[in-house]
Amino acid sequence: MRAHDTLDQIKQYIRSVPDFPKQGINFYDITTLLQDYDGFNLALDQMQLYVTSCNAERIVGIEARGFIFGAVLADRLNLGFTVARKPGKLPYKTVSQEYELEYGADRVELHVDSVADGERVVIVDDLIATGGTIQAVCKLVEKLGGKVVGISSVIDLSFLPWREKLADYDVNCLVSYDSE
Ligand code: AMP
Repeated sequence: MRAHDTLDQIKQYIRSVPDFPKQGINFYDITTLLQDYDGFNLALDQMQLYVTSCNAERIVGIEARGFIFGAVLADRLNLGFTVARKPGKLPYKTVSQEYELEYGADRVELHVDSVADGERVVIVDDLIATGGTIQAVCKLVEKLGGKVVGISSVIDLSFLPWREKLADYDVNCLVSYDSE
């Protein structure tokens, strides 16, 4: 099967829920992909191909849905897995990075010993919207001396300006939505 057909197929497992969590937001729900073995497996196979091509030494998964894809990929590829978490969740010493939201700001954190100096890292999440969360995680990985060699996401929202924010990085997304 051509790669293009596979990606079209993956899209069929993703449910879009209008006005969640608030009016005007179209939420792309990957639980329908996870709950179908074929859908989850198709997505993981494609992400695995990309992560393999990056020669990564570690995967960093972003809370919470990035944990699901990232942890399976780490196990498939015999790589270490690091969690990027919301503030106050990690028990040991952390590095922390603030990023802007549409209204206000948020933070993301890594344990100080969760990425080694010079390590080649791929960051994994389920969806890239503005790119703010992933950009913050890139900064944290770099603060610890790691090298971000790739970013892997199931979905991207191409009508948002994430490409400019992540211009310094190689980004691979399986399916793209070009309007709200
Ligand atoms: P951003 O930092 O704007 O790229 O937002 C990305 C994070 O927010 C990801 O962890 C997504 O899971 C979540 N997210 C943002 N927008 C949506 C959406 N429309 N549908 C589902 N998840 C979203």
